[in-house]
Amino acid sequence: MRVAVTGGGGFLGSHLCEALLRRGDSVVCLDNFSTGDPENIAHLLSDPAFEFHHADVSVSVEIRGRVDAVAHLASPASPPDYLRQPLETLAVGSRGTENALRLALRHNSRFILASTSEIYGDPLVHPQEEAYWGNVNSIGPRSVYDEAKRYAEAVSAAYRRTHGLSVGIARIFNTYGPRMRPHDGRVVSSFITQALTGEPLTIYGDGTQTRSFCYVDDLVRGLVALLDSSEMGPFNLGNPVERTVSELAEIVRAMTGSASAVKYHPLPVDDPGRRRPVITRAREVLGWQPEIDITEGLRRTVAYFSARPDRLGASAAAIRGGQDDTVPLSAPAITAGTTPQAIPGPATAVTDLAPSAVSVPPSVSDS
Ligand code: NAD
Ligand code: UDP
Repeated sequence: MRVAVTGGGGFLGSHLCEALLRRGDSVVCLDNFSTGDPENIAHLLSDPAFEFHHADVSVSVEIRGRVDAVAHLASPASPPDYLRQPLETLAVGSRGTENALRLALRHNSRFILASTSEIYGDPLVHPQEEAYWGNVNSIGPRSVYDEAKRYAEAVSAAYRRTHGLSVGIARIFNTYGPRMRPHDGRVVSSFITQALTGEPLTIYGDGTQTRSFCYVDDLVRGLVALLDSSEMGPFNLGNPVERTVSELAEIVRAMTGSASAVKYHPLPVDDPGRRRPVITRAREVLGWQPEIDITEGLRRTVAYFSARPDRLGASAAAIRGGQDDTVPLSAPAITAGTTPQAIPGPATAVTDLAPSAVSVPPSVSDS
């Protein structure tokens, strides 16, 4: 199968490209590296089954030759990233999704969308199952992401109804693992970076808000299962074990043996209070469920971050403050470890081109 992966140079996208290549698929990866990193795919460039196009998919998505499936992952995903690129986020969720859908339609291929638990906004129903319609502030700072993804779901569903396109929607819950950027501002990458550099861990609010953290390999298995099916879903893909942000801070501090303090910052606007997926549908229809617990997942992630000490210092400085909705974090200049020279082509539209001993606190109960 020949699969086009938009956002393939990002955290999840690069793992998906790798998983597809591993099982014998060919991959055409499209990315503009607005939030991705050339290092993520540098090791894939010599594989004849892997093709990279430097492209802004909000402008166009065109690929020469047959395409059997399209996985549309291109979009900033970290809150500081999408707050820094509000219009680009809206563009890639709307025009980018339409361009990716048109590519799938031209080839009558399978299309899957990387949607998000942000569809549920700050949920009034807990835990969240797919039938819940959500509680989203349509004009708040997070709306550039939430509403773009809601539109992406709507236009994908309309392509299925109107054109009979085979569409699958994955609502991805907080996923972590190797290849997160240390300065991306998400909670797992921030806490690990801060713990390893001795900086205070930045807890937003009082730390009682919850998330459910899924390891990247589990998530990618779910995306592949969705790609291989003809189901639309939507499917919640995430790990249903829920933890408070304070618990996560303690786990990371214990695992890294860090002496870092904890520093409290204001809670970002519209930050969801509780989040946990019901994954019954994915379990029953796709035969998918996560297998890697947080101890093992964090151990692997900490190992990845520890192996890149040159990147951590500048990143720790960039994520030192709280998340300010008006002045979002800016990315530090990072050169070490990246291989931009290995990536061909300008940032233009694509035209047809060729075990740890750590003890983990119990998770939040459902009561
Ligand atoms: P990421 O920022 O690492 O990856 C996104 C990739 O898309 C980056 O490589 C970026 O450069 C690329 N991109 C953005 N705009 C583009 C454009 N216009 N043209 C081409 N490429 C573009 O984020 P991620 O965590 O890997 O997220 C991947 C997808 O999964 C996103 O769609 C995100 O919304 C979704 N998702 C992720 C999570 C998570 O916890 N990681 C949760 C929910 C949804
Ligand atoms: N958070 C935090 N400190 C940080 C980064 C995030 O306390 O340095 C909190 C954030 O306010 C949210 C949770 O951790 O409640 C998850 O944030 P993240 O940005 O990782 O993902 P989100 O689920 O908000 O998209």
